Amino acid sequence: MSFIKERLAAIHNKIEKACMAAGRPPETVRLVLVSKTRPAEEIMEAVTAGHMLYGENYVQELLSKVGSVQEPVEWHFIGHLQSNKVKGLPGQVKMIHTVDRLSLAVEINRQWGEKTGGPCDILLQVNISGEGTKSGTTSDASIGLLKEMASLPYLRIRGLMTMPPFFDNPEEARPYFRQLRQLSERIVAEEIPGVEMRELSMGMSGDFEVAIEEGATLVRIGTAVFGER
Ligand SMILES: *Cc1c(COP(=O)(O)O)cnc(C)c1O
Repeated sequence: MSFIKERLAAIHNKIEKACMAAGRPPETVRLVLVSKTRPAEEIMEAVTAGHMLYGENYVQELLSKVGSVQEPVEWHFIGHLQSNKVKGLPGQVKMIHTVDRLSLAVEINRQWGEKTGGPCDILLQVNISGEGTKSGTTSDASIGLLKEMASLPYLRIRGLMTMPPFFDNPEEARPYFRQLRQLSERIVAEEIPGVEMRELSMGMSGDFEVAIEEGATLVRIGTAVFGER
């Protein structure tokens, strides 16, 4: 068995165990395999092992890989996104995890409307920790922002995403994951038409099990499958 196939199987095992521990059906968590900096051949190895969902951080890199990996895989954009780069994405990505401001949402809406005529799935990125170095809107601003985004016809608002500060001990990330889930519950209670809270994108190689215990539906994992970048 190839290294990547072996690591993928091991991660799926861990995801399943974390789901069982949390009393959640395993199919409620999807693995977004983060392939940034990895060559297309390694992605093909994972595709051959049956994995069909990938996350990329940079538009140019994503587009080049979409070109090389000629398989019907689902691509998610998970990096910081500048508005002037959005035009490359319609038709290439199914979901953007990192929408954190109205101007970006407006541009995604415009580009998808013009180029695909269908909606783009988006997540609102929230900076739970309030760390100045991190992208994301504040928890306080999120409801107002979602109300404004909800009127954009070519966006489908699917949930929330966060990146907690880095900790050696994943337990320390738990409060941030929990706060994202609690925020999504508050948003659901607002009953904003057109806003769905079905996804929580949280958890990476070092802390995905804790994130799953706190309700993650999309875990973004790179290093634990491909090795150190
Ligand atoms: C790189 C990256 C990941 C994956 O991180 P690993 O520690 O390699 O699992 C997840 N999410 C985002 C937004 C990233 O940039």
